[in-house]
Amino acid sequence: MQPPTPGIAFDNTYARELQGFYVDWQPTPVRAPALVFFNRTLAEELGLALDGLTADDLAAIFSGNRLPAGAQPIAQAYAGHQFGHFAPQLGDGRALLLGEVIDRQGRRRDIALKGSGRTPFSRRGDGKAALGPMLREVLIGEAMHALGIPTTRALAVVATGEPVFRERTLPGAILTRIAASHLRVGTFQYFWAHGTPEMVRRLADYAIARHYPELNATEDRYLGLLRAVAERQAQLVAQWMHVGFIHGVMNTDNMSIPGETIDYGPCAFMEAYDPGAVFSSIDEMGRYAYGEQPRIARWNLARLAETLLPLLSDDEGHAIALATEVIDGFVARYQEYWLAGLRAKLGLRRALSDSADTALGEAWLDLLAAQQVDYTLAWRYLADAAEGDAARLRDLFPGQPGLERWLARWRERCVAEDSEEGGEPDAAAARAARMRRVNPWLIPRNHRVEEALAAASETGDLAPFERLLKALLRPYEEDPALSYYAEPAPAEFMAGFRTFCGT
Ligand code: AMP
Ligand code: MG
Repeated sequence: MQPPTPGIAFDNTYARELQGFYVDWQPTPVRAPALVFFNRTLAEELGLALDGLTADDLAAIFSGNRLPAGAQPIAQAYAGHQFGHFAPQLGDGRALLLGEVIDRQGRRRDIALKGSGRTPFSRRGDGKAALGPMLREVLIGEAMHALGIPTTRALAVVATGEPVFRERTLPGAILTRIAASHLRVGTFQYFWAHGTPEMVRRLADYAIARHYPELNATEDRYLGLLRAVAERQAQLVAQWMHVGFIHGVMNTDNMSIPGETIDYGPCAFMEAYDPGAVFSSIDEMGRYAYGEQPRIARWNLARLAETLLPLLSDDEGHAIALATEVIDGFVARYQEYWLAGLRAKLGLRRALSDSADTALGEAWLDLLAAQQVDYTLAWRYLADAAEGDAARLRDLFPGQPGLERWLARWRERCVAEDSEEGGEPDAAAARAARMRRVNPWLIPRNHRVEEALAAASETGDLAPFERLLKALLRPYEEDPALSYYAEPAPAEFMAGFRTFCGT
């Protein structure tokens, strides 16, 4: 019997145009593929014509057991700085790019498997992934997407029916990941370390054509590429900071050239506000702590800049000067995105004074830090206060006189802007509504995520995962029926909370 030919219209530019930047490789067949998660909305967005296929068909395809026509699986080469140390050879050790499709909006997207077996880049790894961490990537990635933050996304998770051996024996799974591309800072580093400036140039040309085509016609296109990547990172990290997202492992191989959040390993959302928050079990020094993320993004961009130097100018000193200007400029660019986001969170529409607004925001964060107040709820309840109801907010700051002083200051700032605008009568309600559109009510609470993953991984019960995922898709709407998911994790839970890389 002929297997049905699934409708994925691949067009694989990376494989075609960048020979020498990857190895052709096949996924390792798995014993008993079973579909655990399938993202129909995303499949629709990608224009995949998979309608007639059964769950078993989808499991066969998205485990790699049955490759769809047109797929050309490859393992991409990349290097990376891991916790500040250069690893010249990383690469897809447990992932394979199947190919690219053009989605319904005309955007080129990668379809890749993660956990699909050993490759020439596996080093000592087994090439596999466990079910829990792959479902975690689904939950956090979809939550980020719903929050409006650029991210790779999960199309499918297939249980393999095989065990993977970590500290414990766990059920194995394969994730299908969709990305604008899998180009990373580390991809440039690989060809900078092993290849020639000519190879870095080919890669840069590819990145420009695919992600920044507006640079094609410009004279200093490679400097433009650096600037454009820095711009998207400034914007992205500002968005992370505003929802309390901690990536956890911001190595240069986990920083995407198109500017998506990529590689959900030991990531977590901060609950109690603490700039030093770090949950990753492998981040002992707090290099990737919440408050360090902007600084680390800049550091990673400097590593990208290094690889581009020969393309910037024949005169090395001049090349360094050009790159340095962009890297130093990142701080101000980030600050600008952060301040714009801050104003929105505070319900402010006008930029009256950068320094005064920054100080107002910092004073608020100091209040949160002083009492380790829940970051998400504090912002959300501030919207109530904009409408004159500060009761829920006050409950978060027991016995804190500073809160009232700060609220008075914030109200004064709101009034200053409203009177400049001619004082609309419903300014308070409009402000609260605006604030609720940018201050989520629901984030993936760590204890709920763990609960859902434990049920799936330990007893095969997917219901908690499915309920949580559904709740996370509408983060800006307060729904009392979902308050179970909005409650902060108990302090005892957070005190011992560690996230793991899931390798
Ligand atoms: P990550 O920490 O997920 O960013 O991965 C860093 C590097 O380790 C990448 O080159 C991965 O492909 C590789 N890697 C992670 N887990 C495994 C595994 N189980 N088997 C083989 N390679 C892995
Ligand atoms: Mg990675």
